[in-house]
Amino acid sequence: MTAVLVINSGSSSFKYQLIDMDTETELATGLVERIGDGVGHARHTATGSTDGRIDQTLPIPDHTAGFAVMIEAFAQHGPTLSEADLVAVGHRVVQGGSVFLGPVVVDDLVQGQIADLADLAPLHNPAHVQGIIAARAFFPTVPHVAVFDTSFHQTLPAAAYTYAIDTALAAEHSIRRYGFHGSSHKFVSEAAAEFLGRPLAELKTIVLHLGNGASACAVDGGRSIDTSMGLTPLQGLVMGTRSGDIDPAVVFHLHRKAGLGIEELDELLNKKSGMLGLTGNGDMRDVEDAAVAGDEVAQAALDVYYHRIRGYVGSYMAQLGGLDVIVFTAGVGENSPIVRAGALAGLEGLGIEIDPALNDPFSRVPRVVSTAASRVTVLVIPTNEELEIARQTLGTIGRTPPAL
Ligand code: ADP
Repeated sequence: MTAVLVINSGSSSFKYQLIDMDTETELATGLVERIGDGVGHARHTATGSTDGRIDQTLPIPDHTAGFAVMIEAFAQHGPTLSEADLVAVGHRVVQGGSVFLGPVVVDDLVQGQIADLADLAPLHNPAHVQGIIAARAFFPTVPHVAVFDTSFHQTLPAAAYTYAIDTALAAEHSIRRYGFHGSSHKFVSEAAAEFLGRPLAELKTIVLHLGNGASACAVDGGRSIDTSMGLTPLQGLVMGTRSGDIDPAVVFHLHRKAGLGIEELDELLNKKSGMLGLTGNGDMRDVEDAAVAGDEVAQAALDVYYHRIRGYVGSYMAQLGGLDVIVFTAGVGENSPIVRAGALAGLEGLGIEIDPALNDPFSRVPRVVSTAASRVTVLVIPTNEELEIARQTLGTIGRTPPAL
């Protein structure tokens, strides 16, 4: 067996997944949360084992203590990491700036560079570094690989990533569009080509990653050429709690007229906007249920959500110069026939037509949801960012993922 441990470390929690790369199947998953909070919580599940699950509450003062809890859970509840033949640890890193064009083996220099990018991702990169430090201490003999959410979008042309502001100021402060959700957009666009049995190189695809965070990506022959998130994950589509696109002058206006300070505005747009701001509820299931029950506020919010997606679909058709495939993925995209149908309603004239008989049934497998007559094939493909990180990790240490 060849196993890769994938770590997604946040400031007060981390998630992990152990993946058997010979079969690309999950061996165990876990979550360690409320680190530093007095009462920590850890959950570990060895996949497919009846006694391989543990859910415990205990003090977890820091990430290093959290890793000790994880190691103990593997030892007690399996699979043991030695039996699984752990060959590498893959770390999800949100912001790779313009420094990291792809995944890299982590050494002290790389670790420092990831820390230095904290200015661009103050909530994420310092937390990733804490996870990397702890993981390197616990697994000193296996390579650690950093896989960046941004690197898939490093193929964007300058015309797509440049903001029309003072060039010198932008350069001094590294201001440009970076884009995020790269592991998901890459995984899903490649899976779409595989599912359709068509060469990736000839496909023009729009991926709609709709979760709590949401982004669209235009993929031309496997390369990201445009994406909706920007310098930060705030730009673009309407999200659970984020506004997405907004006239920047709204910020000046609210500062001047409502007296809101910069921190309050940051919180307003990142945490109190989107579906939450529009309806009082950021969870798409609740918004949908309310709309179905006749709540006009919820329906109006969904209309804003759809309008924004349609705008990006039209824009990316133009940027791609055509379109073969639209893929829905992530929590909302995979599970909500209402959103898929609503977002693409009225696009028949562009060759995009959803088939309710295919769209409505629940399923966990990749599938077509467009009509036979639809010129653009619309797919639903479950994303798997952990597997993508594990694949890139294996590729980076010189072992190629198996052809399955
Ligand atoms: P994250 O960005 O946190 O990874 P996910 O991809 O897990 O988010 O997506 C979470 C979102 O998916 C939530 O808003 C949730 O309401 C939504 N969701 C999950 N299942 C459904 C469903 N059946 N219908 C509509 N929305 C759903």
